Amino acid sequence: MTTLHNMGVAELAHALQTKQVSAVEVATAFLARTGGNPHNTFLDIDSEVTLAQAQASDARIAAGTAGALEGVPIAHKDVFVTRDFATTAGSKILSDYRSPFDATVVQKLSNAGMVTLGKVNCDEFAMGSANENSAYGAVTNPWDTTRIPGGSSGGSAAAVAARLTPAATGTDTGGSIRQPASFCGITGIKPTYGRASRYGMIAYASSLDQAGPMARSAEDCALLLSAMCGPDLDRDATSLDVPAENFSAKLGDSLAGLRIGIPKEFFGDGLAADVRTAIDAALKTLEAQGAKLVPITLPRTELAIPVYYIIAPAEASSNLSRFDGVKFGHRAKDYTDLVSMYKKTRAEGFGEEVKRRIMTGAYVLSHGYYDAYYLQAQKIRRMIADDFQRAFAECDVIAGPVAPTVAWKLGNNASDPLADYLADIFTLPASLAGLPGMSIPVGFGEGRLPVGMQLIGNYLQEAKLLNVAHQYQLNTDFHLQKPEGI
Ligand code: GLN
Repeated sequence: MTTLHNMGVAELAHALQTKQVSAVEVATAFLARTGGNPHNTFLDIDSEVTLAQAQASDARIAAGTAGALEGVPIAHKDVFVTRDFATTAGSKILSDYRSPFDATVVQKLSNAGMVTLGKVNCDEFAMGSANENSAYGAVTNPWDTTRIPGGSSGGSAAAVAARLTPAATGTDTGGSIRQPASFCGITGIKPTYGRASRYGMIAYASSLDQAGPMARSAEDCALLLSAMCGPDLDRDATSLDVPAENFSAKLGDSLAGLRIGIPKEFFGDGLAADVRTAIDAALKTLEAQGAKLVPITLPRTELAIPVYYIIAPAEASSNLSRFDGVKFGHRAKDYTDLVSMYKKTRAEGFGEEVKRRIMTGAYVLSHGYYDAYYLQAQKIRRMIADDFQRAFAECDVIAGPVAPTVAWKLGNNASDPLADYLADIFTLPASLAGLPGMSIPVGFGEGRLPVGMQLIGNYLQEAKLLNVAHQYQLNTDFHLQKPEGI
């Protein structure tokens, strides 16, 4: 049998069900790897809790009542609230916070039998593209520790890449699953907006936030996504009333005749040559498997950046008003009256980037600027969604890069937040349209830094994306490669 930490979700699930290994053995093996907290990935670990969950899994396996993912470990991004672990959202303002309940996604994965290894680092309130906005320190990229892992689900991606966990949850508002998956050489999928419940997922920009799985392969992501999704109408008003799907059962289609749309705007001057080379090679592979490449246009791609960076901060400024020191989280010590308590608490508790977004958001929503910024942005958002519908009249899925470059150096954009915003150009359009998108490893640039290819599907077409990714992974081994020394 392969070393436990080198096994993926499907392999581990099989080994557990067939009793080749116990859930306690698996949990122990992964917990041992988190010692010393490699890459600053974990924010909370509690081996007693994890081992108790593993024992419960072993009991269900023995009793013949095992779930589909019984005993397989998972780490949760720290924006999912958890009863048994602290939840900080990467912020000082929630430094001692413990939720009285589990997020729906966490609950669903536990229902499938998964064992929680702990909570993983992320940008504060999921705002960022490099994981450098965490109040608990940056995460390093396991492929090159002088580089960022991507963000905001950087802890999730780095932990999977470093084989500290076979799987992690992530959230994606404007690319936070796809971009770190790309930079860390793993596979991740953001489903259609509304597929996974947002209940218990700390809100950043509610009209965009979506949960999704991050793991090694499309096969593993299909298993995880099948367990995560499903209606939660009473608790999330935007949850879609579509039944949970078994995505794993839909991974067998040939790519013959599949039309892959290639948006010309995703292949312009801003795309680094090494990323382009890797994506071109991946497209050739898909062509050799029977797919047809169709040139398409997404003419408002560039506008996705200003539109997103108006709408997301606007929603954030409203969502984050609840962190005021009254009901939960940090409260400043010395204050004179209620308003001074609010002010000091928020000044002390929030980091720079979060404050910048709250201020931007309040500004674009304010009387006199609303029409010029927020309303305009909403109109263009609709046009971006319409552009995708025109494109999907000509193709079945869309393919392109996830990010214009490979992972950049830590500290590179420290004095220029706009540089990080601009790097989101290829992930923002699908987010604004609410479409499913995924990232799969397709090669390396700048030596041995992973390059991810993005696949975008029409609404509720996750099965199609996962199938394309799986067929590609049956023919290639980029998803099996790992950083040196692991
Ligand atoms: N990088 C984007 C931002 O900073 C996306 C983050 C996300 O998807 N959570 O907002």
